[in-house]
Amino acid sequence: MFVSVKSQLQQIQAAIDAACQQAGREPAAVRIIAVTKYVSIERAKEALDAGIEHIGENRVEEGVEKRAALDGEQAEWHFIGNLQSKKVKKMLGKFDYIHSLDRLSLAKEIDKRMPEGKKTKCFVQVNVSGETTKSGISPEETVSFIKALGEYAAIEVVGLMTMAPFVDHPEEVRPYFRKLRELKEGVEALALPHAPCHELSMGMSNDYEIAVEEGATFVRIGSALVGKE
Ligand SMILES: *Cc1c(COP(=O)(O)O)cnc(C)c1O
Repeated sequence: MFVSVKSQLQQIQAAIDAACQQAGREPAAVRIIAVTKYVSIERAKEALDAGIEHIGENRVEEGVEKRAALDGEQAEWHFIGNLQSKKVKKMLGKFDYIHSLDRLSLAKEIDKRMPEGKKTKCFVQVNVSGETTKSGISPEETVSFIKALGEYAAIEVVGLMTMAPFVDHPEEVRPYFRKLRELKEGVEALALPHAPCHELSMGMSNDYEIAVEEGATFVRIGSALVGKE
């Protein structure tokens, strides 16, 4: 049996605090998304009891099911996986954030399905490393893609998201996180009404400290926090 979420959270929070100290950032600016895709509803509940306020799931059905089971809990729900257009209808209203907006056809579908006047908080997923196995738009296309999203009234671009390559030494991913932050700052500077773009969703179990040093405002942590069942 894996150790308690509470003790893992304490260690992770201490590491985030240290990374913030190193970078001259406020720890309160970094929020931890507990990625519960590998674990049970009970384990997700344990995370909430330990003080977690954000939950991440990468599959529509499982995520919707977990949220329904944990309905009475105070939490924000993040959809972090690839999102098929045909699943949009099922997930809208059940997740507070989508981290994987990577094509206009998906934006169009979200826009079509959202109630009039309501917005969905989205992160644009960027494939900073250029690995062909990863989804996301290229860094070069990010600005034009975000400008084009202005056509869809239901889309609010709250930030950028990336998944770094898996490497032996987390230090090797620093340039990718830095690149995402620079892209974010570029979009922020445009002050587009539909794209405030203040958030950076980056960093997972093996590289979140580097991500925090480079400006992450949301880290997505699964195995190191709640384990794998
Ligand atoms: C699974 C997953 C995570 C968490 O991964 P860990 O390495 O277990 O922390 C974070 N982000 C995305 C998009 C994921 O699919």
